[in-house]
Order: sequence, then structure tokens, then C-alpha cells
Amino acid sequence: MAKVSIDKIVKHYGDYHAVRGVDLDIADGEFIVLVGPSGCGKSTMLRMIAGLEDITDGEMRIGDKLVNDVAPRDRDIAMVFQSYALYPHMNVFENMGFGLTLRKFAASDIKQRVEDAARILGLSTLLDRKPKELSGGQRQRVAMGRAIVRDPEVFLFDEPLSNLDAKLRVQMRTEIKKLHQKLGTTTIYVTHDQIEAMTLADRVVVMNHGVIEQVGPPQELYRSPATRFVASFIGSPSMNFIPCRLEGDASGLVVVLDEGTRLPVPKERSERYAAHIGKALELGLRPEHLTERKEGMSAEFAPLPITVDVAEPMGVETLVHFLMNDVMHCARIDPSVDPQAGQPLELMANLRHMHLIDTETGTVI
Ligand code: ADP
Repeated sequence: MAKVSIDKIVKHYGDYHAVRGVDLDIADGEFIVLVGPSGCGKSTMLRMIAGLEDITDGEMRIGDKLVNDVAPRDRDIAMVFQSYALYPHMNVFENMGFGLTLRKFAASDIKQRVEDAARILGLSTLLDRKPKELSGGQRQRVAMGRAIVRDPEVFLFDEPLSNLDAKLRVQMRTEIKKLHQKLGTTTIYVTHDQIEAMTLADRVVVMNHGVIEQVGPPQELYRSPATRFVASFIGSPSMNFIPCRLEGDASGLVVVLDEGTRLPVPKERSERYAAHIGKALELGLRPEHLTERKEGMSAEFAPLPITVDVAEPMGVETLVHFLMNDVMHCARIDPSVDPQAGQPLELMANLRHMHLIDTETGTVI
């Protein structure tokens, strides 16, 4: 195991700046997920850590060793790719042990390591099979086994679950988490899927346009996003953004929506928001903070009248979609309410969980 230190890392492909100054300190044993939309630079970051891509500028350390110019095979990392890249003519044992054979490990040592890894991954009875005789999930496990036998300082995963169907993806996600709990190896995992990021990571790194937007534990990013981008990227259905402005009245600050609804700002936010009166803002509210009216709701809840556009019963809850300023928004309400399309509905906005976004800078204030 080792820590990984990424210091002002830059990557240019010709004139294109794919990574534009990334700083990140990854602790020994930590599970870090790099997440972001396609093209944000997350795979490039991972490939630079692996040594598969030159670093244009900055310093990369694994442990205390500067690795900018160290070849991939000398970095003590093991990478699991999206395509499992198994050798079709080799059986599971040979696929898992091949890297060790190349590195001239003794046959007895290889046998021990492959059998140990196979036990951890539930592959012990499949060691004689060829890849074509395995399911997608089993192939993925062999690819992980090949990484485990190396006992590396750092595991790198590049979208390892993308080729699996939805159900298997969830199952393998749990297995990867269990594996990390068991082995405790420093892990850096790349995905475009925010749910994978949230469920796996000790800390999530949200990237956008070659820079880090925010780093933090999953719940922190969910509860306190620093930017509109993070607020919209993390969470599904995603946060609602409603154009608004702030006004001050005798009772304190009020969020005023375009169509006139007035929502009182909780007192403890007054100081933080006071300087933003009159600016173009957006109110950010997650769907679960727009619910039906319930008995005994505190003063932090304020009514928001809407017209139901589409209602989607999910069983445990019903998603209500509604239009405001031609933009579709979403609320999560109790299924007993049974909202009808085209009918008015009074939602209650939980302002304790509100966010205000400065539309000019995209930052959450
Ligand atoms: P992500 O993994 O976040 O989808 P990548 O790290 O693969 O994104 O790529 C980041 C950006 O760099 C993309 O715009 C991509 O087109 C560009 N890029 C990646 N590899 C190369 C390359 N070898 N040559 C030129 N541009 C590249």
C-alpha cells in the first residue's frame, strides 16, 4: 500500500489541454473515485498515474518516489481495464498468473498467489476454464484476480463495470467494495457513473473540463456541493435549479421565484446570503426536499404551488414532474398522495436544505 501525491499535474495533447493543473493527495489505503462527464480528463489522469501517458507538467509520486519518468512496469501498480483483456487461449489460472510468470516468479509462489486470489474472488472452482466458458462477471473477476496476485501498492480501475448489464454491475460494485475492505489497498477508480462514485468512494473527486471541481466524502458532496456543476452531477433524479432573486423584508430574507412564489430563508443563512440581494440567482433544491404537506411541518417548510405534468409511481415513492419557466423539475412524494397529470398540487419546499447559486460564477453561495 502507498499514498499517491499528485501535484499541479498538467496534460496537453498538442494544443488541447486535457488536464489543467490537478492537485490531489491520496492517503495510504484510501478508495478514491474520479468521476465526471465524458472528456473531463479522468482517464487521462488515471493513465498518467499508471505511466501509460506522459505527464506534461507537475509531479506525481507513489509513496515517496517521484514517478514522472518511471516505466509502468516499475511503478508497483496494477490496472483493471474496461475490456478485460484476457488471453482467450489461456485458462483462468494461466491468465491470473501470466504477469507473475513474465516477472519470473517461482512456480510455487505463482500457484500460492493465484489460489489465494481465486479464493477471495470465488473463482477456485473455475481455474481450468477458458474465458469463453465464463460469464461477464466471472471474466471481470479474473481481470481483478490478475491485479490482486501482483499485490501492488495501488490498484487502478478504468470504468471496470461498463461492459456488464445493470444487475451484474450492481453486484460487482459490491464485490469491489468488499475486496477493498478485505485488502485495504490504495485504489483509484474512474467512472462516469455518479452512483458508482457515491457507493464506492472514501472520497469522490469530481472533474470537469480538466480540473477538479470538488473533492470530498460522498455525503459531503451530496449535502454541500461547492458548484452548480457538482450539485447537478451528483444525485439522481438531479437537483432542481429554479431562477430566483433575494429580497429583504421585515421578517428577514426571502427567495422570490419568477412567477411570484416567496420562500422565507432560514434565519441562520441570512448573514451568508445578505450580500447577494438583487443578484441573478438560482434556488437549488433536491427532489426529496420537495414533498407533500405533512402534519407538524416546521417553519423551514414553505408552500410551492405547481401543476403536475407527469407522475411516476416508483412503489416506495412517486416522482412528480412539473414545469416552471419551461424547465422540468422533480419532486419525490408519498405514493398515498396519488397526484394526477394536469392537476394543481401544493408542494412543500424544505428550505433547511436549500442552496443558492450565483448564476454568474456557478458557485454555491
Ligand atoms: P474521460 O476519461 O474523462 O472521458 P479522457 O481523459 O479520455 O476523458 O480525455 C480527455 C480529453 O482529452 C478528451 O477531450 C479527449 O478527446 C482528449 N484526448 C484523450 N486522449 C487523447 C489523445 N491521445 N490525443 C488527443 N486528445 C486526446
